[in-house]
Amino acid sequence: MLIRALKLKPATKEYIWGGTKLKTEWGKSADTETISECWELSDFPGSESVIDDPSFPGYTLEKLKKLHPEFFGEKAKKFKNFPVLIKLIDAAKDLSIQVHPSDEYAAAHENGSYGKTECWYVVDCDPGAYILLGFKRAVKKEELSAAVSDGSVTGLMNKFFVKPGDFYFVPAGTVHALCKGVTVLEIQENSNITYRLFDYNRLDKDGKPRKLHIREALDVTDPDAFVPEPLPAARDFIYGKVRKLCHTEYFSVKEVFFNEMYILYTADSFASFTVVEGEGEIVDEGGGSGTPFKKGDSFFVPAGVIVRLKANHGKVIVTEI
Ligand code: ZN
Repeated sequence: MLIRALKLKPATKEYIWGGTKLKTEWGKSADTETISECWELSDFPGSESVIDDPSFPGYTLEKLKKLHPEFFGEKAKKFKNFPVLIKLIDAAKDLSIQVHPSDEYAAAHENGSYGKTECWYVVDCDPGAYILLGFKRAVKKEELSAAVSDGSVTGLMNKFFVKPGDFYFVPAGTVHALCKGVTVLEIQENSNITYRLFDYNRLDKDGKPRKLHIREALDVTDPDAFVPEPLPAARDFIYGKVRKLCHTEYFSVKEVFFNEMYILYTADSFASFTVVEGEGEIVDEGGGSGTPFKKGDSFFVPAGVIVRLKANHGKVIVTEI
């Protein structure tokens, strides 16, 4: 059997803040009018991405793993649950001010779930778009609690104007919000635990405010000032540049910009990549005509293979564990 990069079909989500860019600019489809999130690589129960390739049509990662555990590589063996979740997110409106728990807190209070450290690679944004991330200065719990009650909490937070190619690492415990006009690729631990601190007093489509989780949020929020980590410089390779974006216990992420070709080797981990610029084809070891790829596509690459991405120009975000 020829093992190759397997295209993924995401699970899509509609929330009150999503837009239409994932349809119009990223080639996604859904029955809903808007798409807030596409869960590109997901083994999250009930929201799985599936394989869109004739070799394993419609398979979830779970099903693929039963048949081919070797596709996931040596490193995956230490995880009880699939470690990573990758999403495209289109914030047409501001997302709520929120925070996620650490692994320790989630294990104790959320039925043994993972916590949620996440990171954002900005793939598109409107002029003047920004994110809110962490506190400008250290805050006291009482001060934060009062600022949540009177709606002034955003004033305590860093406001970072963004542009495509920016990357932000969001450790568990850091208050944050994606704000309107920002489209990101989010790579996170495989967890869906969000504590909402403030939702701008908005109402959902049924006219009700969304649930807040202020006690839990205050419990897990890091009160210190937040300063983003500087990124290492990009390194040249024969066809382009690679920039390491982050490395955690659960995932590591890099940006690859290439002309002509990028050869992706996987060894002791599977990889997943999402195309953020360009189009071309993926040529496997057998050669021949390849699998086409374009902006917005995501693939699962089994461990221990070599795939060649060919394009005049391409940019992909590669995640491994
Ligand atoms: Zn978040």
